[in-house]
Amino acid sequence: MHIIKKELEILPFNDWNPNKSEHLLIAGPCGAETEEQVMQTAEGIAKNKQIKVFRAGIWKPRTRPNSFEGVGEKGLRWLKRVQKEHGLLTTVEVANKEHTELALKHGVDILWIGARTTVNPFSVQEIADVLKGTDIPVMIKNPVHPDLQLWIGAIERIQQAGINKIIAIHRGFHDPHKGVYRNAPLWEIPIELKTIFPNLPVVCDPSHIGGKRNLLKEIAQKSLDLGMQGLMIESHIHPQQALSDAQQQLTPDSLQQLLSELLFRQTSSTDKKFNNKLHNLRNIIDELDEEMMLLLQKRMEIIEQIGEYKKDNNVSIFQLDRWREILKSRIHSGIDKKLDKDFVEKFCQLLHEESIRVQNELMNKTEN
Ligand code: PEP
Ligand code: MN
Repeated sequence: MHIIKKELEILPFNDWNPNKSEHLLIAGPCGAETEEQVMQTAEGIAKNKQIKVFRAGIWKPRTRPNSFEGVGEKGLRWLKRVQKEHGLLTTVEVANKEHTELALKHGVDILWIGARTTVNPFSVQEIADVLKGTDIPVMIKNPVHPDLQLWIGAIERIQQAGINKIIAIHRGFHDPHKGVYRNAPLWEIPIELKTIFPNLPVVCDPSHIGGKRNLLKEIAQKSLDLGMQGLMIESHIHPQQALSDAQQQLTPDSLQQLLSELLFRQTSSTDKKFNNKLHNLRNIIDELDEEMMLLLQKRMEIIEQIGEYKKDNNVSIFQLDRWREILKSRIHSGIDKKLDKDFVEKFCQLLHEESIRVQNELMNKTEN
């Protein structure tokens, strides 16, 4: 994997984050259902001054037909009331040209592109074309399936339409094995996105990852520990009666409780003592890594010698018994040293693959 860091041409998050802090908090119902439900939920949410953005799906992408598909344009008028009466910014999901035009016409503050839309470059481009000439912020959820390129493509399409306030939302990925989560977090994917685009803010949506209320806290905390820059959490005044995603929505009061239990970490600190100690520890890591590189260099030199030797004696590169023995003994040794078994196994596999590659190259070279 070759990670190329790129600066996306977008505004630094700190320059426009409505929370005026390192994190952005977004909450609201999965879907706007009635004016009363929207207004009561907004009233509960607005009690927490940290939450600046109110979400509500107006058009709901449902897997099967004949389920609640959203209230449509009239819901946008309810969101106007939320802006006026509670001072919250509003955000809705847009999936096509018509949604986008209506959301802009009714003064929605932020748009989001849902997981089922990010997968479709035609739809994303259609939305991007409507957005040309505006400066509305856009949040782009990851595609349903774990395809980082599709996510990046959607972000680029929106950015190339001239939008410079962009957020990526991590909402988990379809899991064919159906684990405990509704959508597998696959944390490595948003981390890779952030590694490629360091200036792109990533916000986590624990509601759609967990799918159940009791899982939200651990997912939200993990996202904050990994340095994600905010949370989008579904909240409904009467979650049990919600017309979509009933099991994952929290009452505004439970949402308050959850937020108060989370530890919002800073990406850096101004504490001198802390910074000195961190600096010293990082120096030790630098030295250890350098030692590790030297060891790897020595190991590869021996691998090459073995390769030559095998070639001279007409012996094949891959030796199953030897590989099994290495794996077994290294895992054993790793466990003794309190290292994680999966980690040791993956590390050995990587070393083994590289050794085979190097020996293969060597054989081809000497044969040609
Ligand atoms: C939603 O936010 O309610 C929604 C439909 O999410 P996703 O696109 O992540 O499934
Ligand atoms: Mn939902």
